[in-house]
This record gives sequence, C-alpha cells and structure tokens, in this order.
Amino acid sequence: MKDQIEKLHQKALASLAEAGSLKELEELRVRFLGKKGELTAILRGLSQLPAEERPKIGELANQVRDSISKTISEKSEELKEEILARELEKEKVDITLPGRPFPVGSRHPLNQVLDRIKEIFIGMGYAVAEGPEIETDYYNFEALNVPADHPARDMQDTFYLPGGYLLRTQTSPVQVRTMEKQEPPVRIIAPGAVYRCDADITHSPMFHQVEGLYVDENVTFADLKGTLEHFLHQLFGKNRQVRFRPSFFPFTEPSAEVDIACLMCGGSGCRVCKNTGWLEILGSGMVHPKVLEKVNYDPQKVGGFAFGMGVERIAMLLYGIDDIRLFFENDLRFLRQF
Ligand SMILES: [Zn+2]
Repeated sequence: MKDQIEKLHQKALASLAEAGSLKELEELRVRFLGKKGELTAILRGLSQLPAEERPKIGELANQVRDSISKTISEKSEELKEEILARELEKEKVDITLPGRPFPVGSRHPLNQVLDRIKEIFIGMGYAVAEGPEIETDYYNFEALNVPADHPARDMQDTFYLPGGYLLRTQTSPVQVRTMEKQEPPVRIIAPGAVYRCDADITHSPMFHQVEGLYVDENVTFADLKGTLEHFLHQLFGKNRQVRFRPSFFPFTEPSAEVDIACLMCGGSGCRVCKNTGWLEILGSGMVHPKVLEKVNYDPQKVGGFAFGMGVERIAMLLYGIDDIRLFFENDLRFLRQF
C-alpha cells in the first residue's frame, strides 16, 4: 500500500506539472484528492492492514495529500499570473498611434448675434422675457391695437391654426403678456422665433425677432432715441450714423423706423442699400395708449417705447451674407466660418 501511495504521488505531481488551465487543475484535484478520488480509493484498504502499520500509512497518506494540495495551489497561482500576462498583452495600447480627430462645434451665427444683442440690453438694465410661439388672435393682433378689420393685418401673412390659434407673426405678444403680469416699470427684451407665410432670398417662413419694451413714468421719445442710438453704436461701431424716419405701426404712436449708414458703401450708395446709402434696422415708437389700456395701465400716468428688429437681417448685414436660407441649411462649410 505504501508503494501504491507513492506511485500515486509521483503520478499526481507529473500530471500537475503538465496542467495548462485552471479547469484542468480542478479536474486533477478531484481525480486524486476528491471523495471519490484515487487516494481515497487506496485508503479504503487500510482496514485490512495489520494494526501496527495503519498509523504509518495514515501519516504517509496525509503527507502526500498535503504535498499534492500545495502543488495545486502553487500551480494555480502560476496559471493565474500567466492568464493575466496574456490579457495585458492582448489589451496593450500603442500610445504612438495618432489620435482620432474630435471636431469642436461652434455657436450658430444667429445665436452669436442674439447673444450680442442681449448682452447690450442687459447692460442697460433690461430683463429677457419669453412667450409662446402658438398664440391667440387676441395677443398677436387685438391687444396690439390691430382689430379684425384693420388693414394692418394684410401687412403680415399669418399661418392660422385650427381652434382660433395662429403662429405668432411678431414677438410683440410677449409685451402684452408681460404687462398683464407686471406693474410698471417694465424693461424687457423678448427674443424668439416668429412665422410668416413668405419665402425668398431675404425672407424665411420662420425667422427671429427681438422685441423691446420700456414702460415707466416720464418716458419720452428722447429716451427711445438715446437707447436705440446707444444700442446701434454698440453693435455696429460708435461712428456709425443713425437716423430716425417717421413711420406707422398700429401699436405705437408716434412711430419711427431706424436706419444706419450702409455697412457696405458707408453711405455713398450701392446695390445692398438700393443706392439710398441707408439700411433699415429697427421699427420703434411710443407705445400706443390703447395698448396700455388693454393691460389696465393708465396712459395718463405711465408711458413707454417699444422696438423690434429681425435677427437674421442684422446677422446678414454684420457678416455680409446675401441669402437668408444659408442660416437654416445646416451646411457645416457655412457654419464653420463664424
Ligand atoms: Zn450701400
């Protein structure tokens, strides 16, 4: 029996030395040391030995068991290290390879212009207000002194929606909504998208306006003029000539359109300014008393001015862009230039 055990020891050590995986190692452990393993099988004959030999064989069996166990755990560590080394080799990164380019986007030119406009007015104490793009006839027209039969409605080609709604044709409804909620003084700009049924190289069915409103006691046309002149000088340079031209809007009285000296020719006349030397930039005027009455302000006590401008038009003039559609085509070759 001693020989049997020693042979088993040698056989086990030889097999273990050749084991190539953790799975094989486990199989060998079961084969030699398991409850139904070879060592157990040999020891089953122990009861047939003379009593004095049993302790010696038992001791030998224990030594062999320990030896095999120890070899298994050593081999197991060895295999784990090999596996780790192989994984590391497989996942090795070549740090000398050039990186993949990761293009960085940029602000859309319209947002850049809008940010600049906001910045100038915020600097003069204005807050930024927003309102819905789907409006009612009341806010888009009636509250702004444009009743149903008013000829001014023909000036704007409106997209009407079912249920008496429409897509706002101007950002002016935000004025009304703000004044309904807030007592004077009110000093806001309202930037946002507006919609008109119109499309060519200078008109888009969706475009952006910035509306401005200042209502308080003792606000005069001189305040309007000073504010807009300051704004235009900030945006187009302080030497840019500005002129106010009488005009008509239903929601302001008196009204004025505001021009700047042509950016292309400086005033001598060219194709862009249609040889007038001037570019129209803003519509403005003193808020009509009827608009103030609609929101329960007292026109005897408070007054104010309002103005509106097209963001696309200003961006086109600032960057020398001659087709409004370029803003909405999402062509990266165009957008990357800003
Ligand atoms: Zn010109």
